[in-house]
This record gives sequence, C-alpha cells and structure tokens, in this order.
Amino acid sequence: MASLKTDNSAFKISAIKAFSDNYIWAITNETMAGLVDPGDADTCIRYIEANKLTLSTILITHHHPDHTGGIEGLLNYCQKNNWPLTVYGPANENIPHCDIKLIESDEVNLPALNINLQVIDLPGHTAGHIAYFSSDSEITNKEPVLFCGDTLFSGGCGRLFEGSPAQMLHSLTKLAHLPDNTKVYCAHEYTQANLTFAKTVEPDNQALIHYSEQVKNLRAKNLATIPTTIKVEKQINPFLRCHIPTLQNKANHLENNVQANSLDTFTKIRRWKDQF
Ligand SMILES: [Zn+2]
Repeated sequence: MASLKTDNSAFKISAIKAFSDNYIWAITNETMAGLVDPGDADTCIRYIEANKLTLSTILITHHHPDHTGGIEGLLNYCQKNNWPLTVYGPANENIPHCDIKLIESDEVNLPALNINLQVIDLPGHTAGHIAYFSSDSEITNKEPVLFCGDTLFSGGCGRLFEGSPAQMLHSLTKLAHLPDNTKVYCAHEYTQANLTFAKTVEPDNQALIHYSEQVKNLRAKNLATIPTTIKVEKQINPFLRCHIPTLQNKANHLENNVQANSLDTFTKIRRWKDQF
C-alpha cells in the first residue's frame, strides 16, 4: 500500500511578531490562513499579502487588547476582499465581533486549514481565558499543538489579573496533563526573563540550567524560543512544579521538613515573581 502523504495539505504554524514581545500565530496552508490572537491588524495584513493567503479564521484566547486589537481592522480588510471571516472566542468574555462563543470541550473544525481544535477552559490570567488544542497527529502527521495565550509561558505563567491562584494552578495542571510532545504556542517571548526567576527558585535544576543556555543562544541571534513543549515545561517551569518537595521547601522557606501543598507553593511563587 502506498504511504499516505499528508505534507502538501498539512497546516503550518508561523509567528507574526507584534508590539515588543507578542507572537500572533498564523495557521496556514498554501492558500488559507487563520490567526490566533491578532492584536495588530496591519502586521497581519502585511503577512497575508506577502504570502498570498486568504484569511478565513480568527481564534481569540482572551479579551486583552494586545490579543484582540486587530479584529476590527482584519474584519474590514476581509469585507473589502469579499472573504467570509469567522471569529471564535471565549463565551465568558466580551470579544469584539465574536461569531462563535466557545466553552470547555467545544470543537473548532477548520477543514480549510486541515486542523481540528478542542477548547480548554483556563481561568486565571483572565476569568474566561481559553486555549485551543489539536491532537490530530494521525491526520496531520505532526505533534499535537496548543495555543494557550497568556496562561502558560515558557518558564512562567500569566499574571493573575482576574482569577485566583487555585484557578490558575488548576488550569496549568490541565495543560501539564497534555501529551509530552505537545508543541506549546504561547503569546509572548518572555522566556529569558522567566528563566532568570526560575533559576532563583530552583538553582540546582540541571534541565533548567541546560535549557537556559539554549535560550540564551537563541535570543543572542534574536530567534524565537517558542514553541516549547509540555515535556520541557514540566522539567523547567516552576509553576508546573509546585508538587515537587525541593521547590516547595524553597518557595516556603520551610524548616523541619514540613511539606506545604502545591497551592500554597504556587501562590507564594506567583507573588514572588510579581515582585521579582
Ligand atoms: Zn493577557
């Protein structure tokens, strides 16, 4: 039997840089494009025109303007070109021009881009924050992918603007249970600063020290450190490691081997990072 070639139809994911450190993710094939969190329309339009693509889809993770500010401009641009555009976003947040409002376990099937995504509720950074996850590896011949906005960053996590530490820890724990080879597409290049903090929390973490060197080399060449993977983040990201005793001791400055729980530890290191 001839092997099934999927490369020609499989989607590709590329970064469009915006503002000082945002990544707008473009999901594309040879003709069509979808955009995740387009905070700025002009940058996206330049990308679409340079690559001769048709924009069909916008996926929004949460309501912050650096993720939603481009929707209106892109909508106008699509109307001018007579392209039907569908805007997907979290049901529990006010997203401008949102056509399809999503909650946990909803599916977003995008046949034009050959990708099917599942919605994961991730309250914490904002109250209604969602992520988009695709495990279609057998169809696309690729690793699972996750678009997680400002919830999980490489080496860190989003600030708690609207949610509680318990909500954020629960959200991060959901992500930690995704397959190890999941490629994590977060919305900011914060990795290097996050790792400076992570090394203060876990100075003896060898995987962290090694990863930090890799990141330093990439950033010296102005290259992106994203996507990361769930496997890497479980090894190096203190916010996914709140169950580990050495980290709990460090974060809590505990004596006499008294163990704190994961939530105490998460709460303390999130507050520590806010002041770092
Ligand atoms: Zn945000």
